[in-house]
Amino acid sequence: MKDLARLALDTAASRGAGYGDVRAIEFTREDVQVKNGEVGGLDLSESAGLGVRVLVDGAWGFAATDELTRQGAERCAAQAVAVARASASLKHENVRLAAEPAHRSVWSSECAIDPFGVSLERKLDLLFRIDAEIRSVKGVKNAESSLSFQRKHQFFLSTEGSDIEQTLTRSGGGFTSTAVSADDVQRRSYPQAEGYHQTLGYEIVEATPYVENARRIAEESVALLSAAQCPAGEQDLILEGSQLALQIHESVGHPTELDRVLGMEANYAGTSFLTLEKRNKLAFGSKIVNLVADATLPHGLATFGYDDDGVEAQRWHIVRDGLFAGYLTSRELAHRTGESRSRGCVRSDGWHHIPMIRMVNLSLMPGSGTLEDLLSDTDHAILMETNRSWSIDQLRYNFQFKTELAWEIRKGKRVRLLKNPTYQGITTQFWNSCDFICGPEEWKPWGVVNCGKGQPGQVAEITHGAAPARFRSVRVGVGYDE
Ligand SMILES: [Zn+2]
Repeated sequence: MKDLARLALDTAASRGAGYGDVRAIEFTREDVQVKNGEVGGLDLSESAGLGVRVLVDGAWGFAATDELTRQGAERCAAQAVAVARASASLKHENVRLAAEPAHRSVWSSECAIDPFGVSLERKLDLLFRIDAEIRSVKGVKNAESSLSFQRKHQFFLSTEGSDIEQTLTRSGGGFTSTAVSADDVQRRSYPQAEGYHQTLGYEIVEATPYVENARRIAEESVALLSAAQCPAGEQDLILEGSQLALQIHESVGHPTELDRVLGMEANYAGTSFLTLEKRNKLAFGSKIVNLVADATLPHGLATFGYDDDGVEAQRWHIVRDGLFAGYLTSRELAHRTGESRSRGCVRSDGWHHIPMIRMVNLSLMPGSGTLEDLLSDTDHAILMETNRSWSIDQLRYNFQFKTELAWEIRKGKRVRLLKNPTYQGITTQFWNSCDFICGPEEWKPWGVVNCGKGQPGQVAEITHGAAPARFRSVRVGVGYDE
């Protein structure tokens, strides 16, 4: 693979590329699912290919191939140069890349137990045990549990002399229980909606108490059928970590992607209200709000040694003590923020797609106190758990989230289970109303595994760490799935 990458790079340079990089990627993914006592799905897929990206006369060209021969590599490189040459005739200005040292490195994520070395029988045995626990609860209509594993082995070579080999392994899974009555359907998920994944080996699956929690989660799905509707009105809101993770993703992560800010990317709820003049001026949140982008976070889904621009992984503040402070940037756009180096946020979802700005891990820094401390500091509030659906406007400003479950909190106690909860707000008002963030003992890295961006669409995975937090006077109410 690496020899073919080198050949493609040399071909691109000899054909006139001023800059070029080649990613040679081998990708493996396994999905195992059990549904209502039966195997619901087994899928093992592999793919390998080269992606060649070049600058010719200041314009980008990209081509990809899975024809892994000398001829295939040369043809792919020639095509990338031809595309760039055609693009150059239409360009507005030359692409300028922020300087980055050439890196020669081998980087690997942590993986104690190779998930692809664990037998299918062992994986299915775990899922069947979860499934049996869920279905032992009367009233459950549907039980689904799944595990998924990915490995990406990638070489990155550039005409600037970078030579980077990276291996990333991620593992995880989750389950859902759905209960049905004559006039209602309620679902509960564990550990979070869309499953729980980290950049680790099978050890993360073994460390997650799936079976131990299956009955409780199933019982909650049934209890929701007869629970009261979430009362509507302005109320104090407490979000547990996994819902907060999605809140961070949608209302902090996407609007700080610099290509959206500059209007160059507008797909999937599109541009951003966080325009350039707001940096270091806008009170994004209250003083206790610190949001940190971190591609070095241990076991994060967007943790790597180097991004797909060949830029070293970094950690920096997006919001510092409430003040909006930074963007997610690339080598191409870093200078638009006045910075001389990229923050290293460029990724693609495979050899066949051109890299673009993608979120790195982005977390809410912990405050202090346990969840019990937070509850006992609360006279009356609604505590919401586990995302069910979301919507956000084109500028990432007005949002609405629904969660699977809520608890009414009175004088520090969970007094009543509530169903169909929803809350809505305006991004800056919401984060400014934050007055309590639990401490490191409650902080956990949650994940988003289905982040879509671009056209053709690409999928990215990102970790968002959070501890439960309280927001004052938020509009909450009842929401139904459309
Ligand atoms: Zn997303």
